[in-house]
Amino acid sequence: MAGGNAIRGTRVGAGPIGESERGESAPRRRVSYWCANGHEVRPSFAVDADEPEFWDCPRCGCPAGRDEEQPPAPPRNEPYKTHLAYVKERRSDSDGKAILDEALKRLRERRGE
Ligand SMILES: [Zn+2]
Repeated sequence: MAGGNAIRGTRVGAGPIGESERGESAPRRRVSYWCANGHEVRPSFAVDADEPEFWDCPRCGCPAGRDEEQPPAPPRNEPYKTHLAYVKERRSDSDGKAILDEALKRLRERRGE
């Protein structure tokens, strides 16, 4: 009967991610990272996988590195703000209007207006 399978599937999906269960079947190792604010992060990786050079600190968002004495420097600006500043710098409102006017002018010329 199909109903039995549906119920079993729901039970498996509803539970939390079985970290301990999977940790037993696939051996994992923990690697320590330290951020500039002194937070230690210990993500776990598969034994046969290379750990990345940097890891984002979940507490403050700074990059964390393998060397406790020399953690990577925190980014000076938030990336989002920097990106917005870039856009505003490169294309001001007046520039945008000039580009639009130019495009309209060419369109009208092509139509022979
Ligand atoms: Zn941190």
